[in-house]
Amino acid sequence: MTGAHARVVVVGAGLAGLVAARDLAESGAEVNVLEARDRVGGRMRGVPVSSGVVADGGAAYLGRQHTELLRLVGDHGLNLVSTGMTGESTFLIDDDRTTTASRVPPLDAVALGDLFDRLDDLIESVRPNAPWLTPDADRLDHQTAKRWLVDGIARPDAHAFFPLFLGEMMAADPAAISVLHMAFYLRSGGGIQYLNAFEGGAQQWRIDGGAHLLADALADELGDRVHLNHPVAAIDQGDDGVVVRCDAGTNRPPAEFRADRVIVALPPLLAHRIDFRPGLSTPRATAATGRGCAIKVHLSYQAPLWREDGLSGWSVSTSGPLLSTVDDSPPDGSAGVLTGFVTGAAASAFSALSPADQEGSALAHVGRLFPALPPPDTCSVTDWLAEEYSRGCYAALFGPGDWLRLGPTLTEPHRRIHWAGTETSLEYFGLMEGAIRSGQRAAAEVIGATHAATNSSKVLV
Ligand code: FAD
Repeated sequence: MTGAHARVVVVGAGLAGLVAARDLAESGAEVNVLEARDRVGGRMRGVPVSSGVVADGGAAYLGRQHTELLRLVGDHGLNLVSTGMTGESTFLIDDDRTTTASRVPPLDAVALGDLFDRLDDLIESVRPNAPWLTPDADRLDHQTAKRWLVDGIARPDAHAFFPLFLGEMMAADPAAISVLHMAFYLRSGGGIQYLNAFEGGAQQWRIDGGAHLLADALADELGDRVHLNHPVAAIDQGDDGVVVRCDAGTNRPPAEFRADRVIVALPPLLAHRIDFRPGLSTPRATAATGRGCAIKVHLSYQAPLWREDGLSGWSVSTSGPLLSTVDDSPPDGSAGVLTGFVTGAAASAFSALSPADQEGSALAHVGRLFPALPPPDTCSVTDWLAEEYSRGCYAALFGPGDWLRLGPTLTEPHRRIHWAGTETSLEYFGLMEGAIRSGQRAAAEVIGATHAATNSSKVLV
């Protein structure tokens, strides 16, 4: 084996796997990317909502701190669109509707101030490059975010707002995540102010035409190295290499790929399902590891009609299904697209409804938020809870005990197997930026290991 001819299999053609494969192919390695679905992009997915208009069913937004993502977007000749936020915000608090120039919900300001001060202090205390070494990590990792709130803040409006905030930021139910995970996630993503903001923040832009275009462009570069419809079921390692086994796909028998190294670029709950032989010494997920719960509802109109009433289309509601909405219309205003976010506990309830009831409850909610709007032309629902090959959106949620148990070995190779995926990135964990950085890191590890093996065999000769 020489560095130039190392055979590498990448499992998963999400952003992390595609970036890793691209870096490896550029280094001269022989790469095969095995993807379970019949498309690339994973949690980035284009959803046609009306004639010629494609919305982001999965990841959409990015900001200035997402430097690797911005570089990739530029390298592939894609354009950015500013997220439409001109006009007044709409709030539906216990069915009481207000519109205001402010982005702050009309709730008890002292309660919100206290909540954010405490969150800021907590986030500041986290060790971002090793959250498991945070002072008091054991206590923070074994307490849920919900318990942290109940024990620390009495004011009712903080309790009304907290699940909305975590739903929007992390698609998380406060009862399902540890305090350490909440604090780490917010720190890793650039802090509350950056994560929460549109202008100057993590929601400043979208990719024109959809974020999935970036995955499509990377896959085009890789060409026939990408094998769709290849769900990996088992990975066997011996002294002289690795065999990656795929279950039969549609109209395809089971398949095997041999490699010197493998990168598994999957969310932890899916990596955990693969049969590794020999088995892993530390798991990729535990019984406490949860999946973020997010469903997007896209409503399309002839034009962004809410703008005519001086509204931005951005809204926050204290009860579901659409806990927030954003104006995701095309930049030329040739159509109106309102994206509704159903997150956390509300997403589980919404997912259990029939398609007709989902549409009915979404339209009723929009009717309360924007009474002047006519019924939309189309309503499409992207339910990530139903996606067999995602299991966690926006990202996996580390439950009580997970950071101490899983954190220290998140990126530690299992012999010839390396790990990628946004959940292995301590920077921008859960975001597209984290996925890219994880793919770059894993590819660099493989290239380094391959060169080391080549050099040691030269010494032996
Ligand atoms: P994935 O995209 O999950 O890729 C994993 C791939 O592995 C998938 O293609 C999957 O099909 C495949 N796979 C799974 N199991 C197997 C198997 N056994 N064999 C072979 N292949 C397998 N991020 C942002 O930065 N900004 C946002 O605004 C944003 N919003 C989001 C909104 C939603 C609704 C969702 C769902 C996500 C959002 N995200 C956002 C998160 C972002 O999408 C992810 O962080 C990123 O896309 C993860 O990439 P990945 O490659 O790590 O994982």
